[in-house]
Amino acid sequence: MSRVAYVNGNYLDFNKSLIHIEDRGYQFADGVYEVFNVSNSKLVDYDLHLKRLFRSLGELQIKSPISKNTFIYHIENIVRMNIITNGLIYLQITRGVAPRDHKFPKKQKSSIVITGRHSSEDEYENKFKKGIKVSTHEDIRWGRCDIKTISLLPNVLAKQDAHIKGASEAWLINKEGYITEGCASNAWILKKDNTLITHPSNNAILTGITRTSFIKGLKKHSIKFKEAKFKVKDIRNAKEAYATSATQHVTPVIKVDKIRIGNGKPGKFAPTLRDVYMEALQLK
Ligand code: PMP
Repeated sequence: MSRVAYVNGNYLDFNKSLIHIEDRGYQFADGVYEVFNVSNSKLVDYDLHLKRLFRSLGELQIKSPISKNTFIYHIENIVRMNIITNGLIYLQITRGVAPRDHKFPKKQKSSIVITGRHSSEDEYENKFKKGIKVSTHEDIRWGRCDIKTISLLPNVLAKQDAHIKGASEAWLINKEGYITEGCASNAWILKKDNTLITHPSNNAILTGITRTSFIKGLKKHSIKFKEAKFKVKDIRNAKEAYATSATQHVTPVIKVDKIRIGNGKPGKFAPTLRDVYMEALQLK
């Protein structure tokens, strides 16, 4: 069976799924999205993702066309129809189709697209074992990075810059010199005193669902943790570093630009920290 996508109420052949050229997502990046991890055919932390989705919609004043339960119904259908055991679900909602005009259209009918894809557990395991390299990039994003909008051009440019430099993620540095987060993940360091730190949850970052569940696990296991800002000089003094996201769970970072973290291999706490996260996440 070929790949199936959910598009505005219909289940369609993925390769024949289309959105109108005057969709405001295409015209203005006027929309939001969510990425759900699928593990052993189960959705990871679906309630937290849906909560964040509804928050993002609310912040952009886009009325949700369907309820949380209906979203779950369609997401589960996409998992089933595409026979996804381990993979990712992308859910995107825009303000819909309207003649091009910046202000909101009088009548709004949101567009919804849900797609799924398989992911390789081996690829993740490999990344976890080897660790990833990160480069730094100026954070040129807007003031509402807490909203998961589809407007990702600064992230795209930073990720491309990282790619050219042989890194797989870019950590973004704001005007004050603090690392806010990665372009598709949250950024963490383990300080010399064994405290894990990550940027506080505010408008400067997307509060990752992986970050949220990881923190829950850290608290449960009384692992020293603090929401605190850090700069490149703190990375230089760090014992270990990590990136967290739905697509890469808790992944060790071994190099940031030319700075080697620890001995340039994943830190000794990496397996424990991953277990702490895996235990804290919720499956449905
Ligand atoms: N920050 C940004 C900018 C992201 O794009 C992502 C991935 N969606 C994250 C953080 C991590 O979020 P999550 O743990 O929910 O995947």
